[in-house]
Amino acid sequence: MQKQSNNRLTPCYQTYKGNIINGEFVPTAETRRTIDPATEEPLFAAPLATRDDLDNAVQHARNAFKTWSKSPFAERSKLMLAYADAIEAHREELERLDTIESSKPLLVSKREFDNVLEWLRAFATMELKDDVFDQDDERIIYGTYNPVGVVAAIVPWNWPALLGLGKVGPALMTGNAVIMKPSPYTPYTDLKLGELAMSIYPPGVFQVLSGDDALGPWITEHPGIDVVTFTGSVRTGKLVAASCAKTLKKCILELGGNDALIVCQDVDIAKCLPKIATLSFINAGQICMLAKRLYVHEAIYDQFKEALVQFTKEHVKNGGGLEPGVMVGPVQNKMQYELLKGVYQDVKDSGYQVALGGSIPNSNKGYFAEPTIVDNPPDTARIVVEEPFGPIIPLQKWSSDEEVVERANSLRLGLGASVWAKDLVRAERMGRQLTAGSVWINSHFDVAPNIPFGGTKESGIGREWGLEGFKEFTDRTSLWVWKKIFD
Ligand code: NAD
Repeated sequence: MQKQSNNRLTPCYQTYKGNIINGEFVPTAETRRTIDPATEEPLFAAPLATRDDLDNAVQHARNAFKTWSKSPFAERSKLMLAYADAIEAHREELERLDTIESSKPLLVSKREFDNVLEWLRAFATMELKDDVFDQDDERIIYGTYNPVGVVAAIVPWNWPALLGLGKVGPALMTGNAVIMKPSPYTPYTDLKLGELAMSIYPPGVFQVLSGDDALGPWITEHPGIDVVTFTGSVRTGKLVAASCAKTLKKCILELGGNDALIVCQDVDIAKCLPKIATLSFINAGQICMLAKRLYVHEAIYDQFKEALVQFTKEHVKNGGGLEPGVMVGPVQNKMQYELLKGVYQDVKDSGYQVALGGSIPNSNKGYFAEPTIVDNPPDTARIVVEEPFGPIIPLQKWSSDEEVVERANSLRLGLGASVWAKDLVRAERMGRQLTAGSVWINSHFDVAPNIPFGGTKESGIGREWGLEGFKEFTDRTSLWVWKKIFD
C-alpha cells in the first residue's frame, strides 16, 4: 500500500492510484475505464474493487467509527470546513473532470461545485441537539441522536459530486463512518473527492470504493454496513430495499421523478418562459427534478407553445459539454441512450405531433438527441408516464384546476411539482394538493442544504439534507434520567 497524505490532487486528473481505504490508495489487480459520452472514446483507468476490498473498507470503517462517533461537533465542523476549502482550491480541475465524465455542460458543473461548497459549509453549522420530551423535579427524559455506525453512500452518474457529498456530509457530521460508491459510469470525480479527504479525515472515516455492477449489491447485503443511502432509479431502489431487508439495515432512497409543471392562464409568458424552458432541458433532461410534464392552460396553450419552441430553437444549444454555451450535452451513457431512443421512436410510431425536434442523429459520434417538444400527447403516452431522462418533454392542455391536479398526481412518482400563476391563492391551493416531496409556486427545482429533500410514493423513502436528513443517519434513544433512586 502506498501512503499519501497531502491535500493535493494527483497532478494529473487522469491518474487513479487506487480506491481510498483507511487513508491510503489501495490499487486493484484489475482496472476499468468508462466511455466519454461526447466522443465514445475510453477515459482513464479506474480501480475495480473486489469483495475483499469492500470487507477491508468495512472493517476499517468500523474501527474508525469507535473514535469518530465520540468526536465533538466542533471537531466535525472544523474538518468539514477544511474539506470544503480543499475542494474549492481544486474546483476548476474537478469541474472539468465532472464535465468530461458525466457529459454535463461546464456551466452546469460549475453550478454543481457552487452547490457542493455551499452544502458542505452549511452542513458544518448544522447540529442535532437532544430533544427534551418531558421533565419535572424528579426526572428528565431526553431524545438523543446517536450515530448509527457505517453508512454506505451509493451515488448516481448525473451529479456525482453534489449527490455524493450531499450524503457523505450529513453522515460524517452526525458521527458516522462513510463508504462512498460512485456510479460505474462516473467514478473519477468521486475518487478525486475521496483523495482530497485523505489528509483531512482520520483514516477509515471517509473511504471511496469504485467498482463495477457487482459492488452495489455486495454493499447492500454486507452485514457490517448499518445504513445505505442511495440515489438512483426506481427499479434499482426496489432492489436496494429488498437487499437491505435481508439484514434489516436502514435505507434512504432518493429515486426517479417525473415532475409535473402546471402553468395557469394568468401568467406573463415572456417572464416565466425562459426559466421553464431551461428547467425542462438543462443537462439534457438528466436531472431527477426537472420539469418533465408541462401542463399549460388551454386558454394560452398555443401562445405558450410557440414561445417555447422559439426559445428552445434560439437558446437550447446542443453539443459537447466543454463547448461554450451548450445547454444540452450528450446523454451520459449508452444504456440510457438506448432507452431514450425507444422513447423517441414511440413518439414517431404513435403518430404524436411534435412542435420541435423529434429525432436522434444517426451517424455522429456521441450520445446526442435533439431537444424535442411533443405537442399534446394523450395522458397514456409513454413520454407522459415514463421518466425519459433526456431532452424531450410533453406539453399538454388542461382546463380545470381539479382536473390538472388529478392528472399531475396520477403517477406512482412524486419527487417535485410546481404551479405557475399570478393568483397566488389559487396557486397555493393547487400546490397543497400535489403529492410530491417538494412543491414550488412560480419556480421549480429549488433546493437548499438546510431544507429536507426527497420523494413521495415511488420517488423515495426518507429525506436528505436539512436536520430532517441528518436524523436519518442517527438512532433515536429515549434517555430517562431519574435524579435520585426512588424505592
Ligand atoms: P441507477 O439506479 O442505475 O444507479 C444508481 C447507483 O446504484 C449506481 O451507483 C449504481 O452502480 C448502483 N446500483 C446499480 N444496481 C445496484 C444494485 N442492485 N444494488 C445496489 N446498487 C446498485 O441510477 P442512475 O442511472 O445512476 O441514475 C439515474 C436515476 O436516478 C434516474 O431515475 C433519476 O431520476 C434518479 N435520480 C434521483 C435523484 C433524487 O434525488 N431523487 C437524483 C438524481 C438521480
